[in-house]
Amino acid sequence: MANPIALVTKLAKEGILDSESLKELIEARNEGLESFISVKARKVLSEKLGNKITIKGRISLTNRCKSDCFFCGIRKSNMNCDRYMLTKEQVEERVKLGYDNGIRRFELSSGETDDIADADICNIISSLKESYPDITIELSLGEKKYSSYLSYFRAGAKGYNLRFENSDAEGYSRLCPMGSIDNRRICIAYLKQVGFDMGTGFLVGAPFGSNDINAGNLLYVKETEPSCIDIAPFVPHPDTPLAKFKPGKADKTLFMIAMLRLICPTADIVANEALDVLLEKGRKKAVTYGANVVTVSLDSENACEVRSLYGKEIPYEEPEKTIASVRNKIVKLGFEAV
Ligand code: SAM
Repeated sequence: MANPIALVTKLAKEGILDSESLKELIEARNEGLESFISVKARKVLSEKLGNKITIKGRISLTNRCKSDCFFCGIRKSNMNCDRYMLTKEQVEERVKLGYDNGIRRFELSSGETDDIADADICNIISSLKESYPDITIELSLGEKKYSSYLSYFRAGAKGYNLRFENSDAEGYSRLCPMGSIDNRRICIAYLKQVGFDMGTGFLVGAPFGSNDINAGNLLYVKETEPSCIDIAPFVPHPDTPLAKFKPGKADKTLFMIAMLRLICPTADIVANEALDVLLEKGRKKAVTYGANVVTVSLDSENACEVRSLYGKEIPYEEPEKTIASVRNKIVKLGFEAV
């Protein structure tokens, strides 16, 4: 086995390793290596993207979902999920709340659903852009037709985030029985063709994964050249078939965020809310491992994606409070919050 420090140095220099070496590096993780790779990742972040950390506000349009992914709290078979669907006015209200608190980058998300017509999605995007010309709108609405993606782009959305969860065909099907990794790959290719800043990512520590698959996930991220990367540890939701599985490791997710900073030096890398569910100050730590975008939920208490996704017992915090505390933490770490 190669010296892990030498592997990190090679990864920083060449931007990729072969699959076996990526796997070896993931498996060699220990405190010393975490500290070494986080210093490298922060150096690359500061050289490539400077000193700014972006706060991105997420708004969930609806938690309706026609899909049935075994890990996900909004899966259609979860009868304990309280479903909601925001009106256009409610979306505008949530954006205003974020805007008034200094947020300029927004992500509108939903489950896999046809319940909102493309024309309505386009209408929301274009009127938000009209009211707030200086905001960036990203979407995360799942798998759609090429023509739908194109219409959202033309309406003014700049980015689209679609995680592939698990790059291995069998592993993917065991998590998402109604879909296929092939279709995810096709959608990811569409997003790039349309001209979106494409975002993608995967689950860390979900059942049916392995470090071979993790190495494959990193290689697939490299291959797709995303503008944005969002990886998250698996959180076992009590109302899903995977409730009894162990959660993904937040520390391992942080380590892989640092690897991704070396693999895709100029991409935005997200510090996702799921990290905070599993680890105290998880999102803050992600910034010290090379993440440069911190997501904050702008949802109201009774239409809250974070609680639908990870479990109702997750405490709700008013977005104004979260934004202020995230901003404060970013500044304390020596960055500028934008
Ligand atoms: N189905 C759409 C898609 O794939 O983009 C959009 C909705 S899906 C709920 C959004 C993301 O939530 C997924 O990419 C998934 O990784 C994440 N997610 C859902 N349940 C999760 C869980 N139990 N633990 C960690 N992440 C989860």
